[in-house]
Amino acid sequence: MQAYRVALDLQNKYPAEHSQARHDGSVWRKIWRLNVPPKVRTLLWRACSNILPTRENLQRRKVQIDPKCEICLQHPETTCHVLWECPFARDIWSVAGRRIQKSPTGTSDFFSLFRSMANRLSKQELESWAMVVWAIWGARNKFYFKKTQLQPLGIVEGAISMLNDFQRLIASQTTPCRRYQAYNLVTKN
Ligand SMILES: [Zn+2]
Repeated sequence: MQAYRVALDLQNKYPAEHSQARHDGSVWRKIWRLNVPPKVRTLLWRACSNILPTRENLQRRKVQIDPKCEICLQHPETTCHVLWECPFARDIWSVAGRRIQKSPTGTSDFFSLFRSMANRLSKQELESWAMVVWAIWGARNKFYFKKTQLQPLGIVEGAISMLNDFQRLIASQTTPCRRYQAYNLVTKN
């Protein structure tokens, strides 16, 4: 709820960045319908709402910080930069499969990027895409806070194997009630 309020707050403060398209509920519904672990959906929602604590977002919220990406040291660390455009992210996308790594033209922010990918990819491909986004954010945090760098292939394989485990667990539950219980169990972890 707190995160939702921050998103609304940012939306009111920066209306220019939130085009009419953001009020199109179908994009948000697509996120919530993805068959991925709940933490992945939440990360995707935060990225699309532009409320991830990237260096650029922190600076915008008056935190005294250099907005430059600490990994490539070239561009401001926006959501789109760190998850899609940074050479560090591109290395990870390059091993993630041909269809999900290709950039649609004319994307200016992460919300537009997600919308284009959602229109282009099958549901299963979009689920893999979401997992890789989540894994890149995790790898970025490891780099920033623990100064460790993981191999792109390991990052992608870890994410896809987590997706497979999650989908197998949910599918193995025989009744809606058990599926719900399994889902809650995953949510708690
Ligand atoms: Zn960078």
